[in-house]
Amino acid sequence: MEPEDARLIRRALDRAGLSIKTGAAATAVIAGKDGVSAVALDDGSEVACQMVCIGKGVRPNVEFLEGSGVAVDAGIVADRYTACNLPGAFAAGDAAVTYEPVTGEPIMTALWTNAVEMGRCAGLNMAGVKTAYTGTFGILNATQVADEPFVSMGVVHTAGGDYEVHRHETDAAFHKLVFNPAGDRLVGAVFVGDITNAGLYRYVIREKMPVERFKRRLIDHTLHYGHLMRINPLSRIY
Ligand SMILES: Cc1cc2nc3c(=O)[nH]c(=O)nc-3n(C[C@H](O)[C@H](O)[C@H](O)COP(=O)(O)OP(=O)(O)OC[C@H]3O[C@@H](n4cnc5c(N)ncnc54)[C@H](O)[C@@H]3O)c2cc1C
Repeated sequence: MEPEDARLIRRALDRAGLSIKTGAAATAVIAGKDGVSAVALDDGSEVACQMVCIGKGVRPNVEFLEGSGVAVDAGIVADRYTACNLPGAFAAGDAAVTYEPVTGEPIMTALWTNAVEMGRCAGLNMAGVKTAYTGTFGILNATQVADEPFVSMGVVHTAGGDYEVHRHETDAAFHKLVFNPAGDRLVGAVFVGDITNAGLYRYVIREKMPVERFKRRLIDHTLHYGHLMRINPLSRIY
């Protein structure tokens, strides 16, 4: 999340009694004979502690493929049908490089929902049912932080980008919608506090639906499943 989108989360964490430092990197773990005592930061300060937990991203275990001929670019490269460059080989999940449906760029994510969808698609293709993978959202987080539910999907980092961005914040909820430069497609969304109908927004983004008929409802957060069913009665929304 961009800092101005994360204010409610930040407030919830502050209220939960956590002290959060952003924009600072750890440079050393300080330990003596009794174990760890502090972490040194690059701003010269130290944080006293008895335990250190590290979360620094995800890297797939693909070293075993060296020399196999399987194309690897950080992860295993999969095409639109989850197939690798070698016949009969497929890739899915955290280890696979697939594509982002909004930008079309290659992407790797480490999310269970994506792994399940991709795995299902790879399974169908392995069984001979040619099935295109609908793509992995660059960011699709749905979780709860200090009692604050939040969802983020599609393009959410907009600083410096050419997007039409709508933000609406109350004391209890924050909604951010990101449209393409032409303003006729929804490409990203962030909801904090109130995540009602997030699945609907996900559908609109993923299907690249032209939004002119219901854009106001999207922005006002009054769109519901009935509206979309009326626009596209054959849509499979989940
Ligand atoms: C602490 C933690 C919290 C997470 N929280 C969330 C969350 O809240 N929401 C969410 O969406 N996702 C979350 N994830 C990510 C989610 O777990 C993964 O995206 C998902 O499990 C990926 O599924 P996968 O089948 O691709 O890989 P995995 O589940 O990692 O399965 C890969 C399997 O391959 C095996 N393997 C590895 N190398 C080899 C080899 N050479 N030969 C044979 N087998 C091998 C591994 O042992 C493993 O069993 C979390 C992950 C972690 C670690």
